[in-house]
Amino acid sequence: MVKVINAIQPYNENCPSQYSCWLDFWEKRTGKPATYCRNCGKYTTDLCGGHVQKVEQRSDGKWYRLPGLYITPICYECNNPENSKIFNVDEKDLVRIP
Ligand SMILES: [Zn+2]
Repeated sequence: MVKVINAIQPYNENCPSQYSCWLDFWEKRTGKPATYCRNCGKYTTDLCGGHVQKVEQRSDGKWYRLPGLYITPICYECNNPENSKIFNVDEKDLVRIP
């Protein structure tokens, strides 16, 4: 498991043109359906491809965002840049944005 947080840095909302949305991008790249929110754990069809960043804890005890954006399934409730909860995601459930 890796620790991630919702992205706050500006990012391109548009997914690559061969996909209908970021969730479609995630499902096709991982080859599996998105069934639950990786942030709150809720099983729902109300999901989108959320932008997240990995975080790491440094020696000062604070968490720092690492460069690089990834997509993971997140429910609409959790998909808010103000949601600064750090959560655990299986590395295999993170798809790097090209
Ligand atoms: Zn959620």
